[in-house]
Amino acid sequence: MTGWIAVAGLGPGDDALVTPEVATALDQATDVIGYIPYVARVAPRPGLTLHPSDNRVELDRAHHALDLAAAGRRVVIVSSGDPGVFAMASALFEAVEAAGAEPDIRILPGITAMLAAAARAGAPLGHDFCAINLSDNLKPFALVEHRLRHAARGDFAMAFYNPRSRSRPEGFARVLEILREECEPERLLIFARAVSTPDEALSVVTLAEARPDMADMRTVVLVGNAATRRVGRWVYTPRSAGRA
Ligand code: SAH
Repeated sequence: MTGWIAVAGLGPGDDALVTPEVATALDQATDVIGYIPYVARVAPRPGLTLHPSDNRVELDRAHHALDLAAAGRRVVIVSSGDPGVFAMASALFEAVEAAGAEPDIRILPGITAMLAAAARAGAPLGHDFCAINLSDNLKPFALVEHRLRHAARGDFAMAFYNPRSRSRPEGFARVLEILREECEPERLLIFARAVSTPDEALSVVTLAEARPDMADMRTVVLVGNAATRRVGRWVYTPRSAGRA
């Protein structure tokens, strides 16, 4: 039996947002590896071994997948959203680099949180935008501040992943401070929590109204550009927008 590894995105939560390609890979798998809540989204069945693991052990998971594939297993590593967005695909390639292995790998895209959130709100990412991971697990917070300031000056719309955690409550307050230095108080922000799950909640506020406690680790925060505006209950960014 020839082993393989698929790194699959499960989308933001709703099963209807899992691609058919990912569903097929899960049907063919002998092993599923990933963070506990993501593995919990995969239905158990005979012949399938689930390997849930704790947060922050991405490299261990990747090496485990390489070992299993070398032994002929068909391994799916699951991420939420898209596996290439602040998730397991890069971790797997780091492990491949370190191990010098050449396994059969496929990366199966998924719907990332910012796109699911943007769709709920309207079209806030309809012009140029960027995504910033606010977690300082793998980079100094000074780099977060630097990129954030430059993105704001470039008038990008932005999506913030991992905005706020219990271990880092002050980081997001600092992010709001920087935005207040760079952007006008009327700038629109969308706090999109647990999109496409039963806990989904969306709120649209101005930068003046935004408070740090509006975000938690299940929230993706979208920030409009200078031209982003409301139309009825929707928020959208015009296709030709912004200052030079
Ligand atoms: N690979 C994932 C992101 C992993 S980082 C993706 O592509 O979506 C985890 C962060 O993603 C969370 O802190 C949150 O900011 C965001 N996120 C993931 N699922 C979400 C959802 N259903 N609703 C809102 N934000 C979500």
